[in-house]
Amino acid sequence: MSTLVPPPDFPLRPALIDALQTRFAANCSTALAVRAQHGRDESVFDVPPPGAVVFAESTQDVVDAVRLAGEHGVPVIPYGAGSSIEGHLLAVQGGISIDVSRMNRVLSIQGDDLVATVQPGVTRKQLNEELRDTGLFFPIDPGADASLGGMAATRASGTNAVRYGTMRENVLALEVVTAQGDVIRTGTQARKSSAGYDLTRLFVGSEGTLGVMTEVTVRLYPLPEAVSAAICFFPDLDAAVQTVIQTIQLGVPIARVELLDGNTVRMVNAHAKLTLREEPMLLMEFHGSPASVQEQAETVQALASEAGGNDFSWATTPEDRTRLWTARHNAFFAALQSRPGCRAVTTDTCVPISRLADSVRAAVDDANASGIPYFLVGHVGDGNFHMGYLIDPESPDERERAERLSHDLVARTLAVGGTCTGEHGIGLHKMDFLVEETGEGAVDLMRAVKRALDPRGLMNPGKIFRMR
Ligand SMILES: Cc1cc2nc3c(=O)[nH]c(=O)nc-3n(C[C@H](O)[C@H](O)[C@H](O)COP(=O)(O)OP(=O)(O)OC[C@H]3O[C@@H](n4cnc5c(N)ncnc54)[C@H](O)[C@@H]3O)c2cc1C
Repeated sequence: MSTLVPPPDFPLRPALIDALQTRFAANCSTALAVRAQHGRDESVFDVPPPGAVVFAESTQDVVDAVRLAGEHGVPVIPYGAGSSIEGHLLAVQGGISIDVSRMNRVLSIQGDDLVATVQPGVTRKQLNEELRDTGLFFPIDPGADASLGGMAATRASGTNAVRYGTMRENVLALEVVTAQGDVIRTGTQARKSSAGYDLTRLFVGSEGTLGVMTEVTVRLYPLPEAVSAAICFFPDLDAAVQTVIQTIQLGVPIARVELLDGNTVRMVNAHAKLTLREEPMLLMEFHGSPASVQEQAETVQALASEAGGNDFSWATTPEDRTRLWTARHNAFFAALQSRPGCRAVTTDTCVPISRLADSVRAAVDDANASGIPYFLVGHVGDGNFHMGYLIDPESPDERERAERLSHDLVARTLAVGGTCTGEHGIGLHKMDFLVEETGEGAVDLMRAVKRALDPRGLMNPGKIFRMR
């Protein structure tokens, strides 16, 4: 199980701080509040903050920050929007946080090719705002207004992945500052390529441990002609999950299908002042031509009715849809609010779709037996769901029990061919699970890649796996 013991503080030497301040002036901060903001997340870990924060405004800034850190032998931790939740950003070995949020220009939109190239600090909402008049959109939606660099680095996905894929499928090319401070390019704007090792895929999901992405080229999609959202309530979780399994097995190209258990609907109602029925609920969205949206919706409605689902209701106006999706995206914060002062131990398992019902059932039975309050939300069309155990951070007993629940859930997931993390990444929290999932041999190969690209171990060290 993951250790919860905070590591020691690692102050930066004055010579390095002087060098950073000389090079970056006001774009380097050592103020405690700024460092603290860059050294924490929603995870249960409490770790001392990085020694300094550099606000990069160009690729050259990133190069210089990486080289200065290298000269002084201290780590660098790339920082996008700070919404990751597995301890990715925590300065477990000290170092410099390189915040790229000011590298926020959309560099090109090639509508005819359905491609955009952005700086890494551009957020997904910003990109969609800039695409507004083009008839195109960028679909990957992890809920938070995350940066494209951070999303690429965590191989993010979210609600739309069941139809449009994850960052793995949607990043075509990158510009990367390596651990040595060199600038390299991977990939092209072509849809496919057989040119050598796939370095783009190597950096996508590397969590800042191999280099800093300074440009990201992504795929775009035509805005669907028609969009319709619906909610449906079910007598129990099994009925809701069976509806999803059959929807996917029938090949219905549903764009989003999210599960909330009745307990989580109650939290969302309280937080968003809604009056949804406090029963297991599916929130769905259909994209396509008007005829295809109608056909998809009728198929799913019939499957839901057969499973005992009722009250299938539509949200056709953009305002109604936004209200529902905002409530869904805020479910995490609604859950935190339901137990003031709590923190969440979150899980992110993803199973082959046919195993989803068993997996959800066992997770809920276990959580109920434990007595620890929890929430359950899921991008269930992908077989991916999150349990969040809401613990008192002052109670070692609750932490221990929540970690046990998480561990048991992962063990069951791996036994049926699933993964410990569908989208959040490994960070600090899931390092032991990675070994359980892939075996020591595969993790050793990852260590070899890390050593080859970052021999001094300065790129976001202490994440994904422990070096030997
Ligand atoms: C309420 C809530 C709901 C969420 N739901 C989802 C969800 O549905 N799906 C999902 O996928 N995620 C979800 N997340 C997690 C989070 O939003 C994603 O992991 C997101 O991709 C992180 O992007 P960011 O810009 O915030 O990155 P950060 O948190 O800033 O960084 C994340 C990691 O990427 C590295 N990194 C950042 N920028 C760069 C760069 N330019 N180059 C190299 N490395 C970099 C960092 O070092 C760090 O390791 C959720 C988070 C919250 C708080």
